[in-house]
Parts: sequence; C-alpha cells; structure tokens
Amino acid sequence: MEDVEVVIVGAGSAGLAAARLLQQEGRSFRLIEAMDRIGGRAWTSDAPFGVPFDVGCAWLHAADRNPYFPEAEAAGWTLFHHDMNVDHLYFGSERASTEEIAEMKAADARLHAIIEAHDDNDDRLGSLIEKGSSVRAAATFCGPMDFGKDPDEISVTDYRSAADLDPNYFTKEGFGALVARFGADVRVTLSTPVKRIGWGGPGVVVETPKGTIRAQKVIVTVSPAVLAFEEISFDPALPVAHVEAFFDLPMGMLTKIPVEIKGTRLGLESFADMLVERHARHDLYFLCFPFELDLMVGFVGGDFAWEMEAAGTEAGVDFVTDRLADIFGNDIRGKVGRSMMTKWGGERYVRGAYAAARPGKAGARETLMQPVGECIYFAGEALAGSLIQTCGGARLSGEAVARQVIAALS
Ligand SMILES: Cc1cc2nc3c(=O)[nH]c(=O)nc-3n(C[C@H](O)[C@H](O)[C@H](O)COP(=O)(O)OP(=O)(O)OC[C@H]3O[C@@H](n4cnc5c(N)ncnc54)[C@H](O)[C@@H]3O)c2cc1C
Repeated sequence: MEDVEVVIVGAGSAGLAAARLLQQEGRSFRLIEAMDRIGGRAWTSDAPFGVPFDVGCAWLHAADRNPYFPEAEAAGWTLFHHDMNVDHLYFGSERASTEEIAEMKAADARLHAIIEAHDDNDDRLGSLIEKGSSVRAAATFCGPMDFGKDPDEISVTDYRSAADLDPNYFTKEGFGALVARFGADVRVTLSTPVKRIGWGGPGVVVETPKGTIRAQKVIVTVSPAVLAFEEISFDPALPVAHVEAFFDLPMGMLTKIPVEIKGTRLGLESFADMLVERHARHDLYFLCFPFELDLMVGFVGGDFAWEMEAAGTEAGVDFVTDRLADIFGNDIRGKVGRSMMTKWGGERYVRGAYAAARPGKAGARETLMQPVGECIYFAGEALAGSLIQTCGGARLSGEAVARQVIAALS
C-alpha cells in the first residue's frame, strides 16, 4: 500500500497533461496505464509502412488553440496546413461534375446554418438532414467522418457544442509521436490496468494487479466506453447519473484503411481530399498521398466502420482496393503495396474512436464533469468542452481537472 496525493488512471493525452501539471506543482502522484506504451489514442507507428503513420489522431485541429501545435513548431517538425475541402467527389464510380461539387458545398453550408438555427430540443441530426438537404454528401463529413456516428445517432445539441476545428495541420513526424514527446519525462507505470477504485472512506484506494495505492483523489481519464464495460469497478457504486452518462456517451467510430499505391499519383495532388459517396452511409474518404508518401489513407466512419472492423483487415483492404479499381481501373490492383486497418473498437482499453452523446442526452458530458464524493474526477476528450473528441482538447481537459484537484487537495 503506497500513499500519494493523486492517482491518475490512463496515460493518454489527458492523463499525461494532468501528470505534468502535478509534477510541475510538486504534488505526489502515480500515473497508471493499462497498455505497454503511453499516448492512448495518440499513437504513431513505423511498423505498417516504414515511415511514421498515425494509427489514431492525425489532424492537429484548432491549431490556434491546440497546445501541441506551438510545440511541434518549436521542435522544428514538418507541418502542413490543410483544412478539409472536398477536392474530388465521386458518386460510386462516377466523378461528380463541378456543379455537383458546388451543390454539395452549398448544401453543407445550408445544413450548418440549420444546425446553428435549430432550437435546443436535442433532436437527432438525421432529422435535420432529411428536412434541410437532399444532398447526402454534405452529411458525410459532419456524421460518420467527423463525429464517427451516423446522423440518426447524433444529438444536434452535442454536435453544435463542438467548435469549428479550423485551422488544421498535419505533422510528418506524427501526432502520436508529438504526444509521446510531451509525455516523455513523466513517470508512468505501464502494463497495469486499474481494476477497482474504492472510495467509501477518506480518499480513494486504487487497486491494480501489481498492488494497491491509497490517495486523496483519483483522476480517471479512460474513455466512457471503458467505464461502461465496467473495466474498472467502483466501490461503493457510482451515482446512477454518472453510470448513465457512460452509456449516454457511446463511442463513435472511425476506421482508417491506408494502402500503399506504387508508381502513380492517379492524377491526385498531395493532401487532396477525395470523397466516394455510396449507398447507406458506406461512404469512403481518402486523404491522398500526404507528405508525398505513396499512401492513400482510406477512412470509413460510423456504423460502417464498426462493421468493417468486424469483417477484418482483408475485407477492409479489399473494399478500398475495389473502390479505387471502380474509379481508376483494374490496373491499380497491381500497384497496391502494403496496407493495414486500424482496430480501435477491439482495443480493450479504448473501445471505439471518440464519444458522442446520444440524441436527447447532450447533458451527459456535464454530469461526468461533476466530481464524485470530492475524490473521483473524470477527464479526457469526452469532457473537453468545445474541443470534444480531439487530442488537444483531451490535454486541456486533463490540465483543467488537475488544477481543480490541486485546489481541492488538503
Ligand atoms: C482513428 C482515430 C482518429 C482520430 N483522429 C483525430 C485527429 O485527427 N485529431 C484529433 O485531435 N483527435 C483525433 N482522434 C481523437 C483523439 O485521438 C482522442 O480524442 C485523444 O487521443 C483522447 O485522449 P484521452 O487522454 O482522452 O484518452 P485515451 O487516449 O484513450 O487515454 C486513456 C488511457 O487510459 C488507458 N486505460 C484504459 N483503461 C485503463 C485501466 N483500467 N487502467 C489504466 N489505464 C487504462 C488507455 O489505455 C489509454 O492509454 C482520433 C481518434 C481515433 C481513434
């Protein structure tokens, strides 16, 4: 039994940020991480392609407010400004005309105006799309590709609470690598899942397979899905409102299916955005040849992304290759090199991409921001205010909660 002032559960962006602040303030803490690495959903790996590839977050969103951005600049990392702008649009294998692209963009603007003007009854986003726009492509980005959810599963109020994320940057060295650099000096205990948090008496007792830690406060930064799946048990049970909030903030899904394309750029410029609209939200987006790499990074989102993960990597890569062959011809099959598919749904300690409130349940985020028993605090992307779902937002949430905890320490 070890005594510290604060235990932090999870060494992703939020947990690392909380730990760094406690470290700076000279407070005693333990940072406990289930995985064998830090970063959580921020993870850059060279393994698939021999160059840094972001398996999780890649866009440095809201760069003017994102604390990672100036750090990447100061480190001299390669940065590229790129805000989303559908440059190439296909309906199935048919290339959209200039007029159709203009119509889609106008529909997108109309849809966002309707969302802004919508009265606050926390409807399904899907209901606005049916009323407001017949152009489905406009809904793809705000639904599956942005929120990781199909529009019928998105709360308008929740969607509206998220900020416009421009300006956006990519870094060639990898966003995950940037987060790992941020956390490099933080002392963390890896490969140690927290199993139980007791909070009946004074402070908390945090149990792991490697031992028990007693602390005044605990900051829990794991995803709401990890909590909904009861990976961590609380004794006594948490208030019902908090438990319901875990379930009212289910994870959206974004699955990346990058494929190497050798010897041709297919007439596409580096960083072009290409959207392939298909039936029933089986849409496919490509970030084309970022940083002039031989990579077409395919993305599917929402329900289809969960289905694709369940179908497996081979099915995912075939889907992407077949769609490219529909558009660019069968010769492309011979040009496909290495490939992979991300699997965040099956990652036990994350279980999806990022949280999105159910329609009618936008208040769940506010509920989870309330500490329990003056000793259990929640932080992370799900509680990041207008920067929900983002890695920079997770960091700001971790810092804000750490400040709250420091102020409350006896
Ligand atoms: C495919 C994908 C693409 C994305 N794209 C972007 C993007 O382009 N830009 C952007 O800003 N954001 C993006 N995001 C979201 C971003 O990655 C997350 O919002 C952010 O990294 C979340 O940080 P966090 O600290 O809140 O949570 P996490 O990163 O999930 O950290 C929580 C940590 O807790 C650990 N943990 C879980 N259970 C336990 C336990 N029982 N005991 C101890 N530790 C535990 C986990 O292993 C994890 O390391 C993307 C996410 C995904 C999945």
